[in-house]
Parts: sequence; C-alpha cells; structure tokens
Amino acid sequence: MIFETTYNDNNYPIILKQNALAEINHFLKENEQNIVLIDQDVYRFHKDYIKANLENQDIKFITIMSGEACKQMSYFESISEKILSLNINRQSQLIAIGGGATGDFVGFLAATLLRGIDFIQVPTTLLAHDSAIGGKVGINASVGKNLIGAFHRPRAVIYDLNFLNTLPHTEIRSGFGEVYKHAILNSETDTWHLMDQYPSIRELSRLENIDTFLKMGIETKLKIVIEDEFEGGVRKHLNLGHTFGHGLEYLTKIAHGEAVMIGILFQKIINKNRNLFDNQESIHIFINYLKELGYPLSIINNANIELIFDYMKKDKKNIGQTIQMVLQEGEASFTIESVSKDEVLDAFIELKSLIN
Ligand code: NAD
Ligand code: ZN
Repeated sequence: MIFETTYNDNNYPIILKQNALAEINHFLKENEQNIVLIDQDVYRFHKDYIKANLENQDIKFITIMSGEACKQMSYFESISEKILSLNINRQSQLIAIGGGATGDFVGFLAATLLRGIDFIQVPTTLLAHDSAIGGKVGINASVGKNLIGAFHRPRAVIYDLNFLNTLPHTEIRSGFGEVYKHAILNSETDTWHLMDQYPSIRELSRLENIDTFLKMGIETKLKIVIEDEFEGGVRKHLNLGHTFGHGLEYLTKIAHGEAVMIGILFQKIINKNRNLFDNQESIHIFINYLKELGYPLSIINNANIELIFDYMKKDKKNIGQTIQMVLQEGEASFTIESVSKDEVLDAFIELKSLIN
C-alpha cells in the first residue's frame, strides 16, 4: 500500500508493505550524505536484512541507544557532534530505523542540525504507525516527556512489515494501544473489528491482517493532522488516553501504548461519571478485553495517584491550572474538558476497584 499525504505542499509518501525497505533506494540522495541512525537492538535483530537492502550504497551507519534512552539532551548533544563531524551540509539526509523513540530523536536531529535537513522514517514497531506520521519530533526533559521538540515532516515513511516479526508481546500491546485509539477516534465499527480479529494475545501476537488496521490508523491520524498540523484544535483529540497515560508511563516506566490503553480506560470512567459516552457495561467489556490481551492493569494497585496527578498538571496542553482531558461524547465525537482533582481521585479509586 502506498499513500501520499495531502498537505498543500511538501507532501510525503507512506509505503506500507512487506519488504518495503527495498523502496528506500528511490529516496537516497546521490552525491550527498545519507546517514542511517538505527536503534542498536533493531540492528542486532535485522542487520543482515538491512545490509542486504542497502549494501550497494555508500551509506554511513550509526547505531544509537535503543528505545526511550536516546531521547535525552546529553545524548542528543553527543550524536549531534558526531553527525556534524561527518561534515554534513544542508542537502545531507538522515534515515531513522527504529521505533517511535528513534523516529522522534532522529527527526529532532534533522529538524535542528544546520537549521533543518531531510529525514526518512523507517518505523520498526507497531506503535510507530502513529509516531512516524504527522511530523512531531522531539526529546525528553528531566521534568517530562517530549518537552523539547519541533514540527518537521519526513521526506518519506517506509514501513516494512517484516520488522514487526521480532517484536516482543509488550511492544505489540504497546503499539496496539495506539491502533485501538485510532479505531475509537474513527468509528465504533473499527473497534469491534479489532476486537473480533484479535480476541486475545494469542491472535494479536500473530499480527494477521495487521496491515489493514495500520492503514486505518494511519489514515485516521493523517485526516486529523492535515486538518490541524500545529495542534490548534482537532489534533488534540489524538491525546485520547494520554493525559493519565503519560503520568502512568512516566512513573511506572511501562511501555507508552500500554499506559495509553490504561489511560483510555481511565477516560472511559470519567465519561461514565459525567453521563457521556460510556457506561458500566462498556467499561466492563473493555476491562475484560484488556485482561485478555494481558495489559499490565495490576500496576495501578501500586501507583501513587498524587504523583500521577502532579504529572498531569504539567501537561503542555493544559490551560492555566486546570487539567484538560479528551472525553468522548458520542461515536467518533470528542470534546476537551477541564477535569478537577476530585474527579481524578474518584475515578482512580473506581479504576482500582474495577480491575481487581
Ligand atoms: P521505542 O522506539 O522505544 O521502541 C520500543 C522498544 O522496541 C525498544 O526497546 C526498541 O529497541 C524495540 N524495538 C524496536 N523495533 C523492534 C523490532 N522490530 N523488533 C524488536 N524490538 C524492537 O518506542 P515505540 O514504542 O515504537 O514508540 C514510543 C515512542 O514514540 C515514545 O517516545 C513516544 O513519546 C513516541 N511517540 C511519538 C509520537 C509522535 O507523534 N511523534 C506519537 C506517539 C508516540
Ligand atoms: Zn501516544
């Protein structure tokens, strides 16, 4: 499958298929530097495959720290110096091979080095169907995630499904959290399709038909980010499940999309308490589904809600001192509302009792 974004200019293709990596040769720059920055674990798993697709090219490879560890300021500084020592110029380009952390980090390098050079996203996780699209790039600060960043569109997204075969269950669940979020944003039918196709972790880990759902997720995200690239309005809906989810992720270090899925559950409880979209039954069905897939719900038992709340207060999307959360009003209909501390504490007590 090949799609193209539909911005007014600077559009980029998204190539999603088995063996998509071979297509990278169409995007390499002749007589310019092409520098691959690759998650060291992905390199370990897929070195032969990557080399086979890029072997005739004069490309430099830099392996980087795997996962979230690369999104630190000190690491950003050291890799920046390393790339600059290769005497790059404004026509050079970076190629990110890895999950969302690699894409965010390399995209931020591309956005800032020489005031902006090209980059290509080669996502290798399920989750990166989300992070590789939309042009948000960045790194973390000690006080929170993604607080230092930029908007910088890739030149192409080359999504090779072969990479997904080595993902552990946790990362499959994590990516599935964002796939599920996109389904909720799209329609009820899409969420039921997902639940039918993947009733438990056994079916999910086989990833059969996953390209159909990745396409749904990418199209849902694209529709939103093309309408609102800089998050003035509807792009905020993509934060569904993220206000609580980010706090939980930051404090417990569970995988991003696993935390988002628990954040979606938290949001459903607030929906119900406000007589919005959810009710006892929909929450019950959702919790059972999360249990079938093995989401780490028991982490809630030892989580400190005061600390999560403090983190939620720091979210960059808040206005003044109130917490802003995406809530669901109806099928594919969302609203952003201020939520009080009392509401958060009540929902947390309810969440704890529901999962046990
Ligand atoms: P990740 O890059 O941390 O990857 C998760 C883990 O999977 C890492 O340990 C990595 O080494 C490993 N891995 C990657 N590919 C693999 C493969 N093919 N086989 C086996 N292991 C593999 O992160 P992620 O879960 O892909 O993405 C999460 C990150 O994305 C977070 O930093 C989050 O903030 C960011 N994000 C950004 C956006 C955006 O719009 N920019 C959107 C969503 C998430
Ligand atoms: Zn996310």
